[in-house]
Amino acid sequence: MFGSERLEQDWLTHRVCAAWDDARSGVRDGALRLGAHCMGVPMLVHEMGHLVEIDDRRATENDFGLRYKRVVRLPPTSYSSGIYPQPLTAQGVERECRVIAISVRILGAIGWPPEAQWADMENTIAALRHMDDWCNVPGRRSDEARSEWCRRKVSRDLVQWPLERVRAEWWRKVVLVTKRLERADRRAAP
Ligand SMILES: [Zn+2]
Repeated sequence: MFGSERLEQDWLTHRVCAAWDDARSGVRDGALRLGAHCMGVPMLVHEMGHLVEIDDRRATENDFGLRYKRVVRLPPTSYSSGIYPQPLTAQGVERECRVIAISVRILGAIGWPPEAQWADMENTIAALRHMDDWCNVPGRRSDEARSEWCRRKVSRDLVQWPLERVRAEWWRKVVLVTKRLERADRRAAP
């Protein structure tokens, strides 16, 4: 697929690599494998965006330890008492908007034309309405108003994330992940 060779050459290593046959990201067989199954390059780049964006602690967790729900305990008098997962903020969607901006930078760096970057952004924003915290995104009147809020958020995030920052943070994370995996190898050695 277009761009995959440049990703392999310029961005990926044997310790941080693509999992073309798996939809999930996580450490398997001594490498951090980024799930690219189903969508190929756009999905791989999206997962790379998550690695750039995530805090160091979660860099090697399965799917970067992302859970967009917080468990809240409802009062016993409530009609559905007990533990009930419910998103309290839109921070999951906000994080995805940052990841979209970072992905746009990486797609640009591997030669995707602007209209293809734009189409990928629109596809991802369209998918965000299936997230649990979509209802908390400003623009309560309609999905379209919320999508528009997301486009503006991505525009602001693009200013925060120029390509040089994306590249620098990517390689800082690759070094961090590699050292962590090498330590794990040494611990596992007999
Ligand atoms: Zn995502």
